[in-house]
Amino acid sequence: MAFDPLSAYIQFEDITKITGFEAVLGGELIQKAVWVDEATCIGCKYCVHVASNTFVVDDAYGRSRALRQNGDSVDIIQEAIDTCPVDCIHWVGFEDLERLDKSLNRNSFQSLGKLPKMSKH
Ligand code: SF4
Repeated sequence: MAFDPLSAYIQFEDITKITGFEAVLGGELIQKAVWVDEATCIGCKYCVHVASNTFVVDDAYGRSRALRQNGDSVDIIQEAIDTCPVDCIHWVGFEDLERLDKSLNRNSFQSLGKLPKMSKH
């Protein structure tokens, strides 16, 4: 049976909790998500050059972030993980993504590649 991305998307819209098994997440069973520990990232952009459909360096903080989960093959994403010089890209469970994202205190990040934030006091 041919894979119909539209029907997969319509099915996905009705799902309230993401499990990682939704066909729209790459058209196949995907059991893990990729996540960047932005607090550790040094903004070298190696991951972006390897898996450019998955990672993007944030303009404000100069740190990498996984923009989408189905942009590159698992092998390419694994290559990006292996390329990271500070080992801050991890395979995690889909159900952990929201908690991990909330654990990042981006207000405390020093913007990489920019002048230090100045205290107003
Ligand atoms: S390779 Fe690692 S340190 Fe470099 S930008 Fe990507 S996540 Fe950050």
